[in-house]
Amino acid sequence: MNVLIVYAHPEPRSLNGELKNFAVQRLKAAGHTVRVSDLYSMRWKAPIDASDSLNGDAERRFDASQDSRRAFASGLQSPDISAEQDKLRWADALILQFPLWWFSMPAILKGWVDRVYAYGFAYGVGEHSDARWGDRYGEGSMVGKRAMLVVTTGGWDSHYGPRGINGPMDDLLFPIHHGILYYPGFDVLPPFVVHRTSRIDEVRFTSICEDLGQRLDDLWRTEPIAYRKQNAGDYEIPALTLKPDVAPGQVGFAAHVVWPET
Ligand code: FAD
Repeated sequence: MNVLIVYAHPEPRSLNGELKNFAVQRLKAAGHTVRVSDLYSMRWKAPIDASDSLNGDAERRFDASQDSRRAFASGLQSPDISAEQDKLRWADALILQFPLWWFSMPAILKGWVDRVYAYGFAYGVGEHSDARWGDRYGEGSMVGKRAMLVVTTGGWDSHYGPRGINGPMDDLLFPIHHGILYYPGFDVLPPFVVHRTSRIDEVRFTSICEDLGQRLDDLWRTEPIAYRKQNAGDYEIPALTLKPDVAPGQVGFAAHVVWPET
């Protein structure tokens, strides 16, 4: 299988750097082909702007969506964008690896998503009409591919628990899991999260690598998070709210997951 790791940490000798190196070795040892987009070493340009389209018209008002649509459709995207899109087409699995910074991904990785997820590639895909709101949330360009986050946090496990002060990790990661990965069609696996990173010694590092190694070995066996598909009957069209008889009384992020019967 082909695995793309998109990695965002400025220091190669960091914990994230070590875990990324470990993941590459583990996946290769299992026979997979691995490519890494190391965003800092690539000096990835994070801001989306008019220079992303090679056919940009300096006189025309820059429109992030429409310029992206035109450049994607005409093959005139900036080469760094199309190279990352080719890697996504090639990949059977995508791993996004990053330290949690201000409860989200580092800006350089968000800029990778902003620019690589072009109109026509990751969004604006499929029929858009009163009866159908495109191929997304379970359908789209990335269908059949898997995705997983590898995230490190300074905060403790309990800080991110169901009643933890930071909010539950599942909720904090929902915009990435559901909004960035499930939206264009990835099957999203539960994340691999390392908490309390300031308390890591050789013993804990070894144990973290064992756990990560197991998750990588199970990449094609792990059950994805059971998000509801947009076009499978759970949502009213075009309001895109859950139908009254689906998860009645439930609101918030958890309502968009099919939970096992208890
Ligand atoms: P490093 O600092 O490189 O390493 C962490 C520890 O691992 C060190 O003690 C190091 O010695 C040890 N280590 C590394 N490699 C090995 C090895 N091979 N063997 C043994 N030990 C090793 N945290 C939150 O919880 N929520 C936030 O919202 C948040 N926001 C942040 C915003 C910013 C801008 C910053 C800078 C930090 C923030 N943090 C936050 C903390 C951040 O998530 C952690 O600092 C980060 O996850 C640690 O990852 P790292 O790769 O930088 O670790």
